Amino acid sequence: PDPDATMNPFWSQIAHELSPYVPGEQPRITNLVKLNTNESPFGPSPLALDAMRAALADSLRLYPDPEATELREALAAHHGVKAEQVFVGNGSDEVLAHAFVALLKQPKPLLFPDVTYSFYPVWAQLFGVAFETVPLDDGMRVRIEDYWREAGSIVIANPNAPTGIALPRAEIGRLLKDRPDIPVVIDEAYVDFGGESAAPLIADHPNLLVVQTMSKSRALAGLRVGYALGDVGLIEALTRVKDSFNSYPLGRIAQAGATASLRDDTYFRETCARIIAGREAMTRELTKLGFVVLPSSTNFVFARHPAQDGAKLAAALRERAVLVRHFNKPRTAPWLRITVGTEDDTRRLIESLVDVLTDR
Ligand code: PMP
Repeated sequence: PDPDATMNPFWSQIAHELSPYVPGEQPRITNLVKLNTNESPFGPSPLALDAMRAALADSLRLYPDPEATELREALAAHHGVKAEQVFVGNGSDEVLAHAFVALLKQPKPLLFPDVTYSFYPVWAQLFGVAFETVPLDDGMRVRIEDYWREAGSIVIANPNAPTGIALPRAEIGRLLKDRPDIPVVIDEAYVDFGGESAAPLIADHPNLLVVQTMSKSRALAGLRVGYALGDVGLIEALTRVKDSFNSYPLGRIAQAGATASLRDDTYFRETCARIIAGREAMTRELTKLGFVVLPSSTNFVFARHPAQDGAKLAAALRERAVLVRHFNKPRTAPWLRITVGTEDDTRRLIESLVDVLTDR
């Protein structure tokens, strides 16, 4: 039923002032090739699964560690920072939402690229953060010089999404050198697939917050674990906002699974390498079919066919049980964002595309 039809007009108006982010479809049908939400085609590390089973058998009647000490210490060791420089949350979405409230809300506007993660304008609107978007250049890249203007804060996804293009760490360094006085958040959801993390710059830049997730490269999207690294001052600001909502950042199972995942470096490296190889293979196949594919440093590709409408292509693929995401912003209208799955997924994607393009 249409909720608007049953809602009291007063509440309905309040609800209409918010336009929430719409996540990609999570269909219940099986045997779909699901390449629409940038999940990993591989399972989490077996060590993470074992640790979660043990946590389940252990003591769910007890509250979890409100400080997530073990996980924060493991993340600190992994990234070469102190545990007090690590903040954890329920997916990087929650970490970013807290960063909008704690850091990015400033009297002067927040800047972010005009084609980027579409949750940023949603949070800005929800939390009353004034913002301005900065166009990408003609190659759909973020140009650091374009951020040298009046601003209260900056958030950049690196690699960017949905374009998949990464900036080298030196470029983020250049941005920070010019903007030492405002909070800068770098969202590195996809960094493990060939990007360069800005984390080593934290030591010299107390205004830098680096946000990462366990949803993509560690295949734990369903567990909801994200984190931020930064100066203790920034982490303290995030913690105060979090404690005002919920003093438990993550449940016991999530803390156990995420901590164990960090212990399995071999599995992590192997699965990332397989996804990178799969991305290069998918790029070659799409190029052969006439697609223009942006150079990706992520677990997805951003591609368009010069003679095809993105929405129609996505719909035709869906009829063939292949789910991809298309983007309907004016400048990105014909683009498809396709997650790198298994070799078999790519084969089915390409077969379906051949089918659609030859109108069979
Ligand atoms: N940042 C970017 C750029 C993303 O694409 C996503 C995934 N939708 C996220 C953050 C959030 O991921 P999660 O909440 O699963 O950590």
